[in-house]
Amino acid sequence: RAKQEGRNTYRLFRAEMHRQDHHWLELETALRNTAETGEGLEVNYQPLFDRDSGILQGAEALLRWHHPAFGQVSPVDFIPLAERSGLILPLGARLMRLVAGQLRDWLAEGLAPPRVAVNLSARQFWQSDLVAQVRTLHADYGLPRGQVGFELTESILLDKQQQAIHTLEALREMDCRIAIDDFGTGYSSLSYLQDLPVTTLKIDRSFIQGLGESLGSAAIVAAVTGLAKELGLEVVAEGVETEAQREALARYHVNLIQGFLTGRPVTAEGFAERYLAAEIPTG
Ligand code: C2E
Ligand code: MG
Ligand code: MG
Ligand code: MG
Repeated sequence: RAKQEGRNTYRLFRAEMHRQDHHWLELETALRNTAETGEGLEVNYQPLFDRDSGILQGAEALLRWHHPAFGQVSPVDFIPLAERSGLILPLGARLMRLVAGQLRDWLAEGLAPPRVAVNLSARQFWQSDLVAQVRTLHADYGLPRGQVGFELTESILLDKQQQAIHTLEALREMDCRIAIDDFGTGYSSLSYLQDLPVTTLKIDRSFIQGLGESLGSAAIVAAVTGLAKELGLEVVAEGVETEAQREALARYHVNLIQGFLTGRPVTAEGFAERYLAAEIPTG
């Protein structure tokens, strides 16, 4: 309830900001502060399930920012701002350490999800030392290979293809899974897919939500799953909200699902409680 109000308050504030550019500057200043101190940053985790068995297959790490004056700021607003200003680099580095620390703790309790996916924006992906950072992270936190995966959008992978392939191959050598996020919304020529060492296509939620409503969405889901099968790629459906959508996905043999139907993003504690909790031995 309070959270909801916080969000509404911020929305009003944002409408105001569109009229007054200097408010964006204020938000950027606040974000810069947060990038330096880490204050107000939190990671939420959304579960990824096998559609058929309901077995947990992993989680996606999603950044949350709470500011004392602005309230809960949506990543839809602050990630683009962070990307424009370059603040995404320190913020992203913080997120990765938070995730790695959480994984280390979960592993120590024997509870870790099979994998956690981290979103990478363009600037993060094109950092010259990205691969070294990921390697160091695994070493520092004692994470098994492949424990952390990445999600990137198509547009990132379109330019500098050779360099992209090089980076992706290095990440694949560490067994990191690589998903193309929001798949189907970019301007891809598709032919780029056969050259890129990615593992997963994550169908954008707009197409999942259109299932049963528009023939176009169904056609796109069918095309993506067909393509994935030919290329030997795994498919994830994001934004699954209804039982009808889940049933439709069975028809296209989409086996991995994520969405409000099976679980919203929650705090690390909430995630452990709901999805990782082992049987507590009694007696
Ligand atoms: P994304 O990577 O495509 O993440 C999925 C978004 O869809 C999340 O929004 C999630 O809460 C939302 N979602 C999941 N299931 C459903 C559903 O069933 N219905 C609906 N309507 N929405 C659903 P969120 O957390 O607000 O993140 C929005 C975007 O911000 C993300 O889209 C991602 O592009 C970006 N983002 C979030 N965290 C990070 C981060 O740590 N780094 C970077 N670079 N980007 C991030
Ligand atoms: Mg994502
Ligand atoms: Mg996505
Ligand atoms: Mg999306």
